[in-house]
Amino acid sequence: MALRFYDTMTRSLRAFEPLEAGRVGFYACGPTVYQLPHIGNYRTFLFNDVLHRWLEWKGLDVRFIMNLTDVDDRIIEKAAAAGASLRDYTEPHIRGFMEELETLGVRPADEYPRATDSIEDMARLVEKLIERGHAYLTDDGSIFFDISSFEAYGRLSRIRLDEVRTGERVADDRYEKGDARDFALWKAPKAADGEVGAVWEGPVVDGEAKPGRPGWHLECSAMSMSRLGETFDIHAGGEDLVFPHHEDEIAQSEGATGKPFVRYWLHARHLMMDTEKMSKSLGNFVGIRDVLDRGYAPAVVRYLLISAHYRKELSFSWDSLDDARAAVRRLTDFQRRLVDAPTAAAATDAVLRPIADRALAAFEAALDDDLNTPAALAALFTFVRETNAALDRAGEVALDELDALRLALGSMDDVLGVLSLASASTAADEELAAWVEERIAARQQARKDRDFARADAIRDEIAAAGIVLEDTPQGPRWKLAEPATGGR
Ligand code: AMP
Ligand code: ZN
Repeated sequence: MALRFYDTMTRSLRAFEPLEAGRVGFYACGPTVYQLPHIGNYRTFLFNDVLHRWLEWKGLDVRFIMNLTDVDDRIIEKAAAAGASLRDYTEPHIRGFMEELETLGVRPADEYPRATDSIEDMARLVEKLIERGHAYLTDDGSIFFDISSFEAYGRLSRIRLDEVRTGERVADDRYEKGDARDFALWKAPKAADGEVGAVWEGPVVDGEAKPGRPGWHLECSAMSMSRLGETFDIHAGGEDLVFPHHEDEIAQSEGATGKPFVRYWLHARHLMMDTEKMSKSLGNFVGIRDVLDRGYAPAVVRYLLISAHYRKELSFSWDSLDDARAAVRRLTDFQRRLVDAPTAAAATDAVLRPIADRALAAFEAALDDDLNTPAALAALFTFVRETNAALDRAGEVALDELDALRLALGSMDDVLGVLSLASASTAADEELAAWVEERIAARQQARKDRDFARADAIRDEIAAAGIVLEDTPQGPRWKLAEPATGGR
């Protein structure tokens, strides 16, 4: 089957044909950096990652851009409350986000542009929109997009222009469908903007620059087109971005260029917490740190979040993490078995290679079909089951057959990124264990030498590393300290 995706624009599955053969331009909306993302956000970011990896697995040359929204209404509000500049306020959140992406084994994007580094592009875009009659200046020096000037407005989210209040304005970056009106491209400075350093020399209107700051939607139009061209292949994000964010991006981009903006729109369904969407504003969220603190490895979180199809409902629960942990363990056990399996000197019956070939074919068909990760995982587990049964029967296998199995497993994990992540944390665990054992031995020696000050110092050192040491009649035992639960 050829690669196909569900395109939100047409509400249908469409064969994927990039603009330029062999190359893909892919833009995903990144986080708004006023706190660390929650695992719901990471569901969307891991969907982006699997998509990125899959396109590369298919041999395509992908240019993947994810922006960082480091100026918008909420960030300014938070930075002003904290008495910090925009840069100082967002910096630790950006760093934390980058660290968590690495923790979750996300393949880096080619670029992570910050909105505040792209203000020039935004100002020029607004000038073009004014020139082409799509935008207008208001009395306070803000600039709005006139939605009645853009005939295709509403095509992505399927709202009808005759049902919205044209001519009225909404200045908020985030508004609901029922509130669709002319939206702000450029906002004249308010007191808080000046306090946090969120005022730039803006678009030139009638020979005069209009100071202010960009609206959220404008940021993504400018950052995507400046890097991927006026028309590019894939634009992705969570489902809440369809309206108004992506609808407004289309209006701005196509209004300015007169060309189609994006060829395929892909949206991930939100992660639920019980019956509600996990969200920052509802406060019902769990962070990566919370999950790791409870002793779940990053590979387990990754597995859970990619195990459901990106357009299907997924509810978070701690039980579901336990199931994911069991699944990851089956995979790591299997991987170890492939390493440890006894090899035969002579050639053996070629039964294993066809198992690997069948698995890879099923795996590819699943992901080609709109990135069907549960079907791909099913193919992987069929592979595990069939291979285990064949190995039980065969006893010994020829090295080249074993290699075919290892290659197949590695190839599937190139996309899933679970086993590579699991072995990274196993290595870290082993390193920690070796260190603790060495420190315990040093402490025992210090005690033997009756150097109790040194023994106590080592004990403190071990405790500071989050290790609980118990002296038992059988000698010292250690374990990781109980994680703090709740909060972050
Ligand atoms: P934000 O930082 O709010 O701009 O969100 C970053 C990304 O996470 C966007 O693509 C959102 O659509 C997505 N997102 C927000 N909440 C959830 C959720 N509960 N599940 C999945 N994705 C989400
Ligand atoms: Zn965006």
